[in-house]
Amino acid sequence: MGKICDANELRTLPSGVQKPAFPVDIGEMHEGERVRKPQMYLEFGGLKAEAKFELVRPRQLNEIEDARIIIEGPDISEMAEDGSYSLGILIEVAGAKVENDIAGVLERRIHYFLNYIEGVMHVNQRYDIWIRFTKDAYKHGFNSLEWFGKALIWLYKTSFPILEKVQVTFYTEPAQISEQLKTAMTIWAERDERTRSLMDEDVEQFYGCVMCQSFAPSHMCVITPNRTGSCGSISWFDARAASNIDPNGPNFVIEKGAVIDTEKGIYRGVDKVLQEKSLGSVQTVSIYSMFENPHTSCGCFEGIAFYIPEIDAVGVVNRDYREEAVNGLTFSAMATNTSGGVQSPGFNGIAIEYLRSPRFLKPDGGWNRVVWMPYDVKERVKSSIPADIVDKIATEKDVKNLADMKQFLTQKQHPILQRWKEQEAASEAESAETEATAETGATTAIQLPAEGETVISAPTLQLPASGGFKIILKNAKITAEKIIIKRLDKK
Ligand code: SF4
Repeated sequence: MGKICDANELRTLPSGVQKPAFPVDIGEMHEGERVRKPQMYLEFGGLKAEAKFELVRPRQLNEIEDARIIIEGPDISEMAEDGSYSLGILIEVAGAKVENDIAGVLERRIHYFLNYIEGVMHVNQRYDIWIRFTKDAYKHGFNSLEWFGKALIWLYKTSFPILEKVQVTFYTEPAQISEQLKTAMTIWAERDERTRSLMDEDVEQFYGCVMCQSFAPSHMCVITPNRTGSCGSISWFDARAASNIDPNGPNFVIEKGAVIDTEKGIYRGVDKVLQEKSLGSVQTVSIYSMFENPHTSCGCFEGIAFYIPEIDAVGVVNRDYREEAVNGLTFSAMATNTSGGVQSPGFNGIAIEYLRSPRFLKPDGGWNRVVWMPYDVKERVKSSIPADIVDKIATEKDVKNLADMKQFLTQKQHPILQRWKEQEAASEAESAETEATAETGATTAIQLPAEGETVISAPTLQLPASGGFKIILKNAKITAEKIIIKRLDKK
């Protein structure tokens, strides 16, 4: 057993929860604070940490001790300034009315609550947390994980009176965190499983989440049975439980209202709430499309669905993937184009669970359009990929760049080939039409100067009403908005 901290002053529930004497301020006004590297004292999680997680588990009242804070492994005072450290946060809660349903909701509040602490920044969720705090906070005495624990216990108890007991354990030894993470992954998988049998048309209400508005003020997640919140930690069931216990909180009911387009996922009720919550910056959303009025993304998304224009296809990359994706861009580079609460056609912040949804990018071609994803993600969602496509989707183990990608797709007869064929046919039809329009007069030859690079301004020609004409350009430099290249044998 690690170090046990005394938080007796927080054990005065339910009538009087005292705000703990705290070295820095705690309150909503500190949400959205960014802690940049030069201001940082040290960080937990993030790219450099070996292991990290945060988890909330409901327990029986006799299983935990209220306001107990346990630190397993070295505390902040034993860590070096500027360092990056592993961290696991386990919050155990109990109460006569506490049910398993609310675990996901309470877990996402860790993000909210830690951001309330002056000088602390928390991003992401579940197995991918990243926490920084400032040199200033440290100077004021914020030198132990005990302070994180006290803030969390106080905020949980004041926000959720149904919690009779809250116990917090911090793990800082990577091996121990990795061990705990295995259990956490099983718990998350069970939570995610629940929504898979429910379809969007089976329910009358969706839910909104504005928990990330402190970082992306115009962003609202629309949470439906078929589209989990972009961070992957709030499913439709979680959002429903959250809005039941805290109707004025960041999760709320959205009446679907009239269906405008089932395929794309456009609902009058959703648009109405979205317009209001985004303060007019988003007018309409196609819940399932990444191209036409796509869902906005804050910054906490678990993955990105990205367009690959060279092959008119879609790739998926997750936050944990450190290499360049097949389009030559890293997750962080693409995240810049994806985040901020704006609609970015071609870049869509998504939960990995959304890949399991029967509505996944349906209006854009669904799985028939997906050509690449990291191996680990593919393994996780394999059972939800249609059996006839699963082997046709490449990973970093199959291809490294777009040239290899085309070869792979052709060899595997990926359904994207059909799309290419259709586009080629459409392009040929367009060229034929252009040619037919041009072939309207007698043959005309325009001879240009024989030497040098010449830029000409052609006079307006009156073309004959019938017959054809021929234009011969020699040593010419042509600037054009659109070029149609045709095979000679098609003449
Ligand atoms: S990503 Fe979406 S669902 Fe998750 S906390 Fe942020 S707003 Fe809520």
